[in-house]
Amino acid sequence: MSTILGLARPEIRNLRPYRAAQYAAGSLRLNANETPWRPPGDTSAGGLNRYPEIRPVTLTRSLADHYGLATEQLLVTRGSSEAIDLLVRCFCSAGQNDIVICPPTFGMYEVYAHIQGAGIVEVPLLKDDGFALDVDGIKAGWTDRCRLLFLCSPNNPTGNCIESSQIEELCQFLDGRGLVIVDAAYAEFADEDTAAEILNRHKNIVILRTLSKALGLAGIRCGAALASPQIVELLGRILPPYAYPTPSQDAALACLDPDFRGELEERAETIRAERGRLTGALQRLPAVIRVWPSEANFLLVEAADPAAMMAAARQGGVLIRDLSKNPGTEGCLRITIGEPANNDQLLAALGTL
Ligand code: PMP
Repeated sequence: MSTILGLARPEIRNLRPYRAAQYAAGSLRLNANETPWRPPGDTSAGGLNRYPEIRPVTLTRSLADHYGLATEQLLVTRGSSEAIDLLVRCFCSAGQNDIVICPPTFGMYEVYAHIQGAGIVEVPLLKDDGFALDVDGIKAGWTDRCRLLFLCSPNNPTGNCIESSQIEELCQFLDGRGLVIVDAAYAEFADEDTAAEILNRHKNIVILRTLSKALGLAGIRCGAALASPQIVELLGRILPPYAYPTPSQDAALACLDPDFRGELEERAETIRAERGRLTGALQRLPAVIRVWPSEANFLLVEAADPAAMMAAARQGGVLIRDLSKNPGTEGCLRITIGEPANNDQLLAALGTL
């Protein structure tokens, strides 16, 4: 048995997937208990009365092209959130296995581990070192129970990136023992996009991407797990047939048209420029203690009086995120970068403090 297969839950290793109704172009479909009529208001190409493809083949190809990979290296998921869930369910047996997380970080790793009954080992980021990864701490904290290491780069909510050399070091360290998951939800906003080529050097890495952020498609729930074909196949076993809705496929395919690449890159560039402008402006406010450097589309801001800053923003019609009571981000708020006028509105509101 390969080492990756050996790390998966035995139930998933032995799973015989459900056999869905087959398609054959040009044939009458009386094999899937669908209704023959389109629903009112349906203007879709294929008809929403029909189930989507069992697996979204065209979208998989388009996303693989987008990220520079082979189709066998990519699994389309409903948001990258679903990929996190699939990973935990595939590799962690309830009560027997743990995940390793590096807080402060995205909260859903922990939530999905709890749902699955997996344990959580925390190796906090080193705040005094700009929220750097504690590589030695991860190595020391890893046990035979551990299966997945969740890294987030750029990290939500601290905004900093993890060095590629550290990711590679951990892939080597965990070879045969576990998977390194790199959640790259905000990669398009970073100085360097997380290199997909790392996938060709290590078999135990999974990179998570999403169309919810830089591509502006949070409403359609499209994400992807990039990994070795073997991991993609294992995760795919857990997905139900017809999992990916037709309207989401159509919207994702429209946005991934190479003609729009330039426009999307310009938008990411606007966010990066606004991030710099907002950082400078916030740092000049007496109510702000510090703004952490960010490579994402948000800023972690330490405030002298977080409650007063939340209230001032609210008063000006702006919602920001209060993280001041969370371990590791005491006194901090998280502010998403908007378009220039949005950011001006926020600054005007905070200027009243
Ligand atoms: N990863 C990170 C780091 C996130 O911040 C988020 C959403 N806020 C997600 C994953 C999930 O995004 P989605 O399910 O929309 O792809």
